[in-house]
Amino acid sequence: MSDIRDVIIIGSGPAGLTAAIYTARANLSPLVLEGEPSSTSDQPGGQLMLTTDVENFPGFPEGIMGPELMMNFRTQAARFGAEIQTVKASKVDLSARPYSVWVGDPDTPEPTHRAHAIIISTGAQSIMLGLPRENELIGHGLSTCATCDGFFFRDHEIAVVGGGDSALEEAHFLSRFASKVTVVHRRDELRASKIMRDRSFNNPKIEFLWDTVVEGYLGDSAISGLAVRNVKTDEVSELAVTGVFIAIGHKPNTDLFKGQLAMKDSGYLITRTGTTSTDVEGVFACGDVQDDLYRQAITAAGSGCQGALEAERWLESQHDAS
Ligand code: NAP
Repeated sequence: MSDIRDVIIIGSGPAGLTAAIYTARANLSPLVLEGEPSSTSDQPGGQLMLTTDVENFPGFPEGIMGPELMMNFRTQAARFGAEIQTVKASKVDLSARPYSVWVGDPDTPEPTHRAHAIIISTGAQSIMLGLPRENELIGHGLSTCATCDGFFFRDHEIAVVGGGDSALEEAHFLSRFASKVTVVHRRDELRASKIMRDRSFNNPKIEFLWDTVVEGYLGDSAISGLAVRNVKTDEVSELAVTGVFIAIGHKPNTDLFKGQLAMKDSGYLITRTGTTSTDVEGVFACGDVQDDLYRQAITAAGSGCQGALEAERWLESQHDAS
């Protein structure tokens, strides 16, 4: 077993790598378990690895590609001495200090790493429809974030899939740019709140395709439409759109912490208001894993900074107390 570290950061999106930059610059020699490559956002670099142009991250007036932005974060963290390992944490034990983290076989009696403080930044993922070519079309007409990508669809006809508050919020936002927004919903009743429903029904650019499921994405290198099926009549048709926004919910990557940290029913970690403190002292959560409201790269980076500063202060207080 390795020595006890000051801090281990689990996850390497904007939150985790910002925490790495700050803790490294505070001489805490952070170890970052960045995850392993996969086709989902649950991978090194997080959700921005699945995006193309990022135009709303301050400091890049011409925009920057998501993977390039994350590579910059990573290089900056490494420059200040963060140790970054391309592995996934397979188990944690937050019941006793120092905290234990396993990599690989979780049944190994001895943990792989131990640390006085843990910063959790494992992110969240958009729930997708699970249709063929979904990952390759992201950034090519397919998106999960209207705030990020709406601007690219000026005067386009687009579809939003889902019937909850997120879908209607996305549709409403997109109606500022698009010539028409079609909300494709699998039932004839919306899950969304009344205020969002009313707002959408009153928006002349928003139309609804009820009782309809998406069966496939049309277009070779970019979306040119959706193959849709009416679940009541079984009628299959095509919806000509050049943009598709999936808004059927998000899943935070918190399986590792079930039973150990307080979380909402939705699985998001609970942090004390205005801080990144979880209900276990010395364990901090930042970025989308604890944010079901903003979910932006810049807010994640900001909370990564908070997490690092709070971890640093907490470590100092422990040191002073001993
Ligand atoms: P949600 O409320 O769970 O709604 C998900 C929607 O996607 C539902 O309409 C669901 O259909 C549909 N759906 C789920 N899986 C699907 C699939 N495989 N294929 C097709 N459709 C599918 O999720 P959300 O809209 O992301 O909202 C999450 C929480 O955040 C909610 O509590 C919401 O109120 C809140 N929120 C609030 C605001 C706001 O107040 N401004 C904005 C966004 C989110 P069914 O209805 O048939 O199940």
